[in-house]
Amino acid sequence: MSAEFGFSRWGADVVRLAEPLSARVRNPLAPRARSLARNQGVELTVTGSAVVGLVSSGARASIARLEFAAMSNDSAGTIRALLGSATEPDDDVHQRARTAGSGAGPQIAAADCSCRARGDRCVHVLATLYALAAAIDHRPALALELQGFDRFLAARSEPGSGSGPQPQPIARWTPLGGLGIGDYWDPPSAG
Ligand SMILES: [Zn+2]
Repeated sequence: MSAEFGFSRWGADVVRLAEPLSARVRNPLAPRARSLARNQGVELTVTGSAVVGLVSSGARASIARLEFAAMSNDSAGTIRALLGSATEPDDDVHQRARTAGSGAGPQIAAADCSCRARGDRCVHVLATLYALAAAIDHRPALALELQGFDRFLAARSEPGSGSGPQPQPIARWTPLGGLGIGDYWDPPSAG
C-alpha cells in the first residue's frame, strides 16, 4: 500500500501531525479530511511559516490557519551541510538529518480555524495538514521553508552580519493578503 499523503519522508512528518503516533484511537475526522484534501477541497497558501487552508465543503468554506515553529540554528546548519549544492532535500537527507538528531520535523506553534468547532484539530485543520503534506511530497524544500530555513540561509550569507538586520518576528495571521477572505466570513444564512 502506497501512502496517499506523505509518501516522502518530509511529507510523512506532516501527516504525523494529523495522525500522531501517540493517538490511541484513529481520529474520526481523518477520512473526511483526507477526502477534502484529495478532491481539491483545500486551497493552500503558504507564506513563510504561516499556512492558510481555505477549505470548501459544499456551499461552506472555512479558513484554517497554522503557524510552524522555527527550526534551531543547529538543525538548520546540519541540514544545510547535508544538502550540499542540492536545493530539494530528498529522503536520504531526511534520514541523515534524523540520525544526526536534527530531523524532528515541523512543529505546529499555533493553529485555529474560522469554524465553530472547539479545539485546534477540526476537520479543516486536518484537511489543511493533508494538503500541506501533499504539497511537501511534491516539493520537499517547502518543509524547510516552513521552519525558517530560508531566513537561516539569508542570515548566514549576509556580509558582516554581526550588525546586520535582525530577523523580523512573524506577525501572527497577517499574511492573509490576497485571499479575499471577506466573502467567507459572512454569517451563514439561517436555514
Ligand atoms: Zn474548522
